[in-house]
Amino acid sequence: MPKQGRGQGRGQGVQAGGGAGRGGGGSSGGRSGEGGGMGGGGFCVCPKCGQQVPHRAGMPCLDRRCPKCHVAMVREGSSHHQEIESRRAEREPAR
Ligand SMILES: [Zn+2]
Repeated sequence: MPKQGRGQGRGQGVQAGGGAGRGGGGSSGGRSGEGGGMGGGGFCVCPKCGQQVPHRAGMPCLDRRCPKCHVAMVREGSSHHQEIESRRAEREPAR
């Protein structure tokens, strides 16, 4: 009776531990504005003469100038604009 000594020595050296070092780090943050902030559309208003020009996305009203007075314009409906309107109303009472 041959002793079948079969040494079952299978070194189970499963090297566990998959290197978890693959983080998705794609820096793709190219959000083309439009639809952000106060929403598109609307008008820019001249605080001086009240001239209105259509607001363009990505172009702050403060960067625009009134074609007549060349002063920085404000976004229509913004708190800044409302403030100006109320101030003007005080200065120029409705006739
Ligand atoms: Zn103006």
